[in-house]
Amino acid sequence: MKIAFFDTKPYDRTWTEPLSVKYGYDIKFFEHKLNADTAVLASGYGVVCAFVNDTIDNDVIDILYKAGVKLIALRCAGYNNVDFKSAYGRINVVRVPGYSPFAVAEHAAALMLSLNRRIHRAYVRTRDNNFSINGLMGIDLNGKTAGIVGTGKIGQVFLDICRGFGMRTIAFDPFPVENPDFEYVSLNDLFEKSDVLSLHCPLLPDTKHIVNADRLAMMKSESLLINTSRGALVDTHALIEALKSGKIGGAGLDVYEEEEEYFFEDLSNEVLLDDDLARLLSFPNVLVTSHQGFFTREAMQEIAAVTMKNIHAFETDGVLENEVCYRCDTNCEKKAGQKRCF
Ligand code: NAD
Repeated sequence: MKIAFFDTKPYDRTWTEPLSVKYGYDIKFFEHKLNADTAVLASGYGVVCAFVNDTIDNDVIDILYKAGVKLIALRCAGYNNVDFKSAYGRINVVRVPGYSPFAVAEHAAALMLSLNRRIHRAYVRTRDNNFSINGLMGIDLNGKTAGIVGTGKIGQVFLDICRGFGMRTIAFDPFPVENPDFEYVSLNDLFEKSDVLSLHCPLLPDTKHIVNADRLAMMKSESLLINTSRGALVDTHALIEALKSGKIGGAGLDVYEEEEEYFFEDLSNEVLLDDDLARLLSFPNVLVTSHQGFFTREAMQEIAAVTMKNIHAFETDGVLENEVCYRCDTNCEKKAGQKRCF
């Protein structure tokens, strides 16, 4: 099995190479992101391994299909970057549905705590021998309300963590879990009542800009918005306006609407051309990390293991448990008891 591995970073090789030896796979690691310009590199490879900021639209899928690619193995949970209608019937798509909800939930908690107690500013100050604490005051989280959008694997762990701080926990999800140990409320109530509002739903057409000007206006003036899910859940321009006018207390962002060009790259010698990102970085009450929520040892190990298992199942004509297609919710073949979606 020959695998073209796109958007490779050194840490990807660390976890993937030993497993490729175990499975006997021939992996070519490309540093380029997958897009219409680079897809041709996959010629002669049966499998493409891709990540969150790779572009897997109709043009790319056409090129991959013509190049003989049979499987796209996403090494991530989210799949909003894939045109599933274009892939259907031509290239199977598998993903890693859950690897460590703790990794992302704990990162969301780290953003919440750092932002609340201004740790990002204190760190810079003390390194400059500035031991003043003016402007660094936070609030007690105990007794405050944590609200989440999306009560899946990561959201539920985040709520558990918040309960550990003595916070009240509320949530919105159109598909509620049974017997929750938190309270479900309407989306508007969630925005109005939360002192910390954290996003844990996927990016879908109906969740794009779920945080918009109207909803930001509903939030408490001291509230913190945490986004570790996908950048486009938040309307960046509306967020910037809300921060400028003090409508919310701050934002902790591990993802950003236009992150593809920037996140995961060292651009410290370059001028930042994205004015919105530059504006976000200029606020004292905004903390940006570059999509590192998933980045723990345990998660990387699991991502590599499940990715290889997915590829092995495809190669050996096994059941593709982690396959996704645009008909999965309704009537794909796998739903009807077959091994694959088509
Ligand atoms: P999950 O599938 O377990 O849970 C997602 C939840 O969102 C489900 O309960 C679902 O019902 C809910 N949902 C669907 N539509 C909704 C809507 N319109 N409004 C509110 N909720 C809705 O997924 P998960 O493993 O908890 O991951 C959540 C998200 O976290 C992923 O979609 C991905 O975007 C993001 N993520 C980020 C990182 C990172 O490194 N920052 C890593 C992994 C995942």
